[in-house]
Amino acid sequence: MTDVDEPERSTSAVSIAHVVARARDRFDAGVTRPLAWRREQLDALERLLVERGRDLEQALHADLRKHPTESQLTEIGTVLAELRHTRKNLERWTAPRKVPGEAQLLPIRSRLVLEPLGVVLVIAPWNYPVNLLLMPLVGAIAAGNAVVLKPSELTPTVSAAIADLLPRYLDAEAFAVVEGAVPETTALLEQRFDHILYTGNGAVARVVARAAAEHLTPTTLELGGKSPVWFDDDEHLEQVARRLAWGKWLNCGQTCVAPDYVMTTPGRVDALTRALQAAVDAMFGEDPRTSPDYGRIVSERHHARLVDALDGAAIAFGGQHDANQKYLAPTVVHARLDDDTAVMTEEIFGPILPIVAVPDADAAIRHILGRDKPLALYVFSADPATRQAFVERTSSGAVGLDVPMLQAGMHSVPFGGVGQSGAGAYHGEFSLRTFSHLKPVVHKPHRPDTLRAAMPPYGRVKRFL
Ligand code: NAD
Repeated sequence: MTDVDEPERSTSAVSIAHVVARARDRFDAGVTRPLAWRREQLDALERLLVERGRDLEQALHADLRKHPTESQLTEIGTVLAELRHTRKNLERWTAPRKVPGEAQLLPIRSRLVLEPLGVVLVIAPWNYPVNLLLMPLVGAIAAGNAVVLKPSELTPTVSAAIADLLPRYLDAEAFAVVEGAVPETTALLEQRFDHILYTGNGAVARVVARAAAEHLTPTTLELGGKSPVWFDDDEHLEQVARRLAWGKWLNCGQTCVAPDYVMTTPGRVDALTRALQAAVDAMFGEDPRTSPDYGRIVSERHHARLVDALDGAAIAFGGQHDANQKYLAPTVVHARLDDDTAVMTEEIFGPILPIVAVPDADAAIRHILGRDKPLALYVFSADPATRQAFVERTSSGAVGLDVPMLQAGMHSVPFGGVGQSGAGAYHGEFSLRTFSHLKPVVHKPHRPDTLRAAMPPYGRVKRFL
């Protein structure tokens, strides 16, 4: 999804090749490997985020009208927490691990070594432009790699800020930022990388995967899709509505793990709608347009796409929009599962929440099974058996029980999709695994020389397998 009318700064194909070659030189020279150096670079990134956090907040406000607190909660602070957790555990996570050898091979000493991959390419989208660029960077640094970062052209202020700041704090050759849009990303993808982490939509993911295949480069694909919600918890209606409203309308609905649509039984639709309206009023006031806490749609094209999606929809509340401000109110629509409309067939990625009546939880589960595997599934139910049924019978990147979104900001659990919602995962120690090769080192001492027993002439070999 790329807007041609957005301002952009670009780098020529020649200089892109040069940037990648420089990063590779740094890696090949062994500069990025020592743990002390990795720690220094993490310290430098921490300083950048602390000292220049205000600049990043302003850039996020300029591009997406994010409230500074929200930027700290979901972007800058999340990266800082990841960084500190990673730095604290770096020695432990990267320490070679002894593994016991098979009895028939004794004496044998085996260990597993985490080896950096080389030069990693990170291609990030616009919706959390700091988080989705720098979270992978933390893991890639910790694993001892050089990194080329490609921020999204749709958030040009953030992109420019990071391109400006990063080389002032980090090793500018090992960690490079390439700004630009499709031509620059295409030129980057012609280069050989040792790993590519792409976050964005499935169509571009195919372009990335095809380009990666040329060099047999492994990829982590962090994609999206429709993340469904099941609701049947009458007891906690108000809390559920508050949590859902927070998860849905954070960043104006432009979150890959945002609740996409809610399934509930017919008798609960109106009560949930009213509770959501009350939650929206409490968070953003009666006119969210004037609220400093409510964001904006990233581009005119995405704004037009979302307004078009409301055409003919049964709007329960919201729907007000203003193209000049790229504003679209928090909106709930009532829909049917088999509707052939954009809100029910495509990922919404905006502030529209359809509520759909289904007969029961079993029907909701069967519906989920019939569609692409979601990035996230949320279940709001007071009944443990219902919660367990969703966990056991469906497949998704993650499941949130009674809460949306949290899994995406945590460093203790892997973040990633499954099937159409992505392949591979990162965050915390899982990033170390993603950006490293787990290399077995096997040592067979010369004495006693038990290996002779496995050598020809085989007439002498005992059957020991
Ligand atoms: P986007 O348009 O910013 O694209 C992402 C990146 O791909 C950008 O850096 C862009 O320059 C590059 N790109 C775009 N077109 C390209 C092309 N033809 N060739 C090469 N590179 C190209 O972001 P988007 O795709 O609109 O992001 C929204 C999608 O991302 C949604 O589907 C959302 O669910 C998903 N998403 C997933 C996660 C996750 O972590 N799983 C997080 C955020 C967003």
